[in-house]
Amino acid sequence: MRLLVVEDEEDLAEGLRVGLARNGYAVDVAAGATQAYDHLTVNEYDLMLLDVNLPDGDGFTLCRALRDGELDTPGDTDVRVLMLTARGGLDDRVRGLDGGADDYLVKPFHLAELLARIRALLRRDTNGSTATLTVGDIVLDAARHAVTLRGEPLTLAPKEFGVLEYLMTRPGHVVSSEELLEHVWDANADPFTQTVRVTVGTLRRKLGDGLIETVVGRGYRLLS
Ligand code: CA
Repeated sequence: MRLLVVEDEEDLAEGLRVGLARNGYAVDVAAGATQAYDHLTVNEYDLMLLDVNLPDGDGFTLCRALRDGELDTPGDTDVRVLMLTARGGLDDRVRGLDGGADDYLVKPFHLAELLARIRALLRRDTNGSTATLTVGDIVLDAARHAVTLRGEPLTLAPKEFGVLEYLMTRPGHVVSSEELLEHVWDANADPFTQTVRVTVGTLRRKLGDGLIETVVGRGYRLLS
């Protein structure tokens, strides 16, 4: 899953980037509203962490613009929005949620709570609030960052985990390399490398025969 962190406090932004990446997310950071607009119109995000107070604008306006379709965003996935703010007033909370935010977290917060909220938001349209995905004999537990195949634990590299998680949210659907690159890698990924193909290849070997199908010219499909 790919996240955009919009946060102008450098230390916090870097801490979030490192903490989220360690938990298997692809993360880009924007230090203000203008940079956030730039990222949102180029990259396809699953979720945005949005600070309310930005040096060149505010998170409410950015969220409203996103929800009103004023931004020309790629892809057709709805970007989940989790607002971050130091202000915990009821007005701000109501304003944020009315403005199209999906959830709200008051600073300071613990990374563990942020991770739980993110998982809940990313699961909302798949299988409710559970952090576990099941497709056939594969069970992926996002909270524990663990995968089992026919009940046996499977050791995956972070990007293999990311690819599998993305495919498991869309079982039976063809997912293109570009889509995987968008959702599992960050902006530093080179789109011209074979990185997606190589990662899918190693993941396929670990899962064993026949679970990930290559649809020539279109992408990959996880069979359910
Ligand atoms: Ca701020």
